Amino acid sequence: MRDLPSLPCYPCPHRSACCAYGVTLSDEEASAITQVHGAAVVYRTRWGEWRTRVRGGRCVFLRDNVCSIHAEPYYPAVCRGFPWIDAETGGPYQYDRTICPEFIARPELIRLGLPA
Ligand code: SF4
Repeated sequence: MRDLPSLPCYPCPHRSACCAYGVTLSDEEASAITQVHGAAVVYRTRWGEWRTRVRGGRCVFLRDNVCSIHAEPYYPAVCRGFPWIDAETGGPYQYDRTICPEFIARPELIRLGLPA
């Protein structure tokens, strides 16, 4: 995979807009997260998908504009891949990259950003 363009994630100038929706978790991630943080931080959708909860418009793990589980082994693969890699397929990210405002400010990122 070629080098990907860098984004100003740390600290994010967009109040971590990409964290506004919570994130899908694998069963293993949900299990590891609930063991450490309790069951209230995740929920299961009607389709059986585990997700992190959102409070105050951001994922519960975002604190002071920083992901509080970024260094943990159970940091979700979806977060690790966004906005370039799809966690399930390992291919290009499949969904809307413009939830990161950098993609609106710098539209060239959409063309540059696909892994080779
Ligand atoms: S991906 Fe975009 S919105 Fe998310 S932390 Fe990085 S710069 Fe901010």
